Amino acid sequence: MAAEKMGMEEGLLVVSGTMGNLVSLLAHCNRGDEAIVGNLSHIFLYEAGGMSALGGIHSHQVPNQLDGTILLEDIESAIHKEDNVHLAPTRLICLENTHNRCYGAPLTPKYTQTVEGLAKKYGLKFHIDGARIFNAAVALRCDVRKLVKGANSVTFCLSKGLSAPIGSIICGSAEFIHRARRMRKLVGGGMRQAGIIAAAGIVALEEMIDRLAEDHENAKRLAEGISRIPELLIDVKRVKTNILYFDLAPDASIKPSDFLKGLNEKGVKILMVGARRFRAVTHYGIDSEDIEATLNAIREILAEAS
Ligand SMILES: *Cc1c(COP(=O)(O)O)cnc(C)c1O
Repeated sequence: MAAEKMGMEEGLLVVSGTMGNLVSLLAHCNRGDEAIVGNLSHIFLYEAGGMSALGGIHSHQVPNQLDGTILLEDIESAIHKEDNVHLAPTRLICLENTHNRCYGAPLTPKYTQTVEGLAKKYGLKFHIDGARIFNAAVALRCDVRKLVKGANSVTFCLSKGLSAPIGSIICGSAEFIHRARRMRKLVGGGMRQAGIIAAAGIVALEEMIDRLAEDHENAKRLAEGISRIPELLIDVKRVKTNILYFDLAPDASIKPSDFLKGLNEKGVKILMVGARRFRAVTHYGIDSEDIEATLNAIREILAEAS
């Protein structure tokens, strides 16, 4: 079902998005190969260095732009084009859609296709970390197939916005999935209990995709509310899906850690991701009233501190 939705030959169920990316990279690359990744990508920053620790795969990090893309010229210049004894052979290019650290930015089909063209030109594999790819499809109002067209593999999460309690999927060609299945076994991800997880995954795929638009509206509503609070700084324009980041202004009357503590005490759970920076994510079960309650909680905390 997942493969058909992606327009790919086969799919493979794994426990987590991290396992999906790891298994994909292990199936694409040999030890000593190089994979091009964004310097703000989840694969590079938040997956315990699994590609190198377990796969012996060397990461070549190139800068992510604010919109989650990587400049084509940066990718092209990172590719090792000749057989030079000093260089690790480039094997793979990875993109992330939507881009977690870049405000949940969706990458467009047009951009993705130009990267695919580059991969083709140099005979490289192309993997998309699409943990939230359905958020991108909904935000851009396009069929998800267009966002993964030409990619050799994509991973996406049944959990997160799609709301399943657990599970991620890898999709790709039959030949690729055959190799990925062995790698999944190798990392301990082959499960006798897969049907229980898959059952929830079917509900996620059938019922939870279209409603992601609500999460995006709620994120926008929260961002606009935050933008009206003088002690908080946010770039509302960048909020296109269900993730937003904001900063506590340097002259705010409260310490960032106390601000977080105050929110937690009022039942609002957000992540602190920098000295003064916070991340909020909207999802199933958070409705517009919760957004108002969150904004009220923020205003109360700041009023009490001033
Ligand atoms: C969450 C996430 C993952 C990893 O998923 P887990 O299920 O938490 O392991 C990978 N990539 C991106 C972009 C993510 O946001």
